[in-house]
Amino acid sequence: MHEPRNFSKEFILQEWLSSDAYRILQAAHDIRHSCITHKDILIELYPSLEQMEYISRTMDFGGMILPNKRFVDKALQLIKKSIEKPCLCSLLFEPFNQNGHHMQNFGFQLLSEDYDTDFMVHECVIRCPACRQKYKIEEYNTCWHMTSTVTTPIND
Ligand SMILES: [Zn+2]
Repeated sequence: MHEPRNFSKEFILQEWLSSDAYRILQAAHDIRHSCITHKDILIELYPSLEQMEYISRTMDFGGMILPNKRFVDKALQLIKKSIEKPCLCSLLFEPFNQNGHHMQNFGFQLLSEDYDTDFMVHECVIRCPACRQKYKIEEYNTCWHMTSTVTTPIND
């Protein structure tokens, strides 16, 4: 198994900016093997991503059957993914009543909110910040202040 060396933003950048194919490939292995335990370092590397891509774009990393470049590309992809916002949609289908208004606390965007007094329906439209899927959440107040919720995905 590949043992990550002194894994830090400074070390990875120093190796990558050397423009030495062997050292970049080793740094790419470090990134791939540390992406779970050192996500914070990948986030720190994100501002240098363009520069790293530029350096490795035209380089030849060799490879017997498959090009070694794929390890370098995978490492760059992991850095890119490290700052992406997680999709929140799965939270909506947890087995407990979700109030559209309160889903803001989880990071959803509240696009509209309405209360229909005649039918005692509280209606919210929210949007997932990552995948931008919209949902309508209707809450029906029944007796004893029990609410039942209906969540429907909306397509534009
Ligand atoms: Zn989503």
